[in-house]
Amino acid sequence: MRRPISGATRVAGVAGRPIAHSLSPILHNAWLAAAGIDGVYVALQIAQDGFAAFVEGLRSTSMAGVNVTLPFKEAALAAATEVHPRARRAQAANLLTFGPDGAVRADNTDGLGLLAAFAEQAPGFDPKAGPVAIVGAGGGARGAAAAFLDAGCPEVRVVNRTLDRAQALCADLGGRAFDLREAETAFQDAAAVINATSAGLAGGEALDLPLAATPGACVVMDMVYKPLVTPFLAQARALGRPTVDGLAMLIGQARPSFEAFFGQAPPAGVDVRALALKALNP
Ligand code: NAP
Repeated sequence: MRRPISGATRVAGVAGRPIAHSLSPILHNAWLAAAGIDGVYVALQIAQDGFAAFVEGLRSTSMAGVNVTLPFKEAALAAATEVHPRARRAQAANLLTFGPDGAVRADNTDGLGLLAAFAEQAPGFDPKAGPVAIVGAGGGARGAAAAFLDAGCPEVRVVNRTLDRAQALCADLGGRAFDLREAETAFQDAAAVINATSAGLAGGEALDLPLAATPGACVVMDMVYKPLVTPFLAQARALGRPTVDGLAMLIGQARPSFEAFFGQAPPAGVDVRALALKALNP
């Protein structure tokens, strides 16, 4: 049974704009209930220019922290007093925790979530096995590149519409930059291809990428999870490629966030994926 909220209830949340669609409250509150923790996780919509003031107002309060989503991941990094190397390398933070001394600690658990998603849905995949092509050069792509390089990936290939941004990412983290028109070259002999663009969101046109150039065993992953099977994943499946979906990544990044807020790992045995799917397809 759900515990009543009391004066001692530990509060965490997710901050973004828009935020009402977020699945994070469903995941965290299901874990809280199953673990019997006196805590609550809420969604907070922040004014476009209000993120710095939001953080300033919350630091030194009893709030545990917040996950941060679009469009505030860079602002979250800027608002922090301490930055984990993972977040520094991604140049974006999806997790802020507040210390009693006023500290604002930034971390990025998206890369951990990505690797957890591969481990779960492509269990035979080894990040050391071959080059990984990442389409996109924003915060998601940076987090992915850092996570794969840290896991021993021999080469990251960054394919982006704006070549400058791909080159900047590769200069910071290592890797080879490709223009979107060179995707076919980047996909040849790739062990995995990851879509880390926001193309296709908000009714825009999905990218038409040359997945047929990938080897038969190439794992294809899309960070976007609405719909769960994106046109990109549908194309990969039609070609017989193994796939990993963005919902597994979302759940994978939520686990270490929960631990940071509530001091323990999420309890086993809660089917949060089923709960999230129900919310995605009511
Ligand atoms: P971001 O920093 O805004 O970067 C967006 C990227 O998409 C840029 O590389 C941009 O290219 C590219 N792009 C946008 N529209 C495009 C178009 N029409 N054609 C070609 N490229 C286009 O976003 P982000 O934070 O990295 O997030 C990227 C995606 O990953 C989003 O859909 C986000 O929701 C998703 N994501 C999911 C999870 C998860 O847990 N599943 C976690 C993190 C992110 P330019 O550089 O040329 O503008």
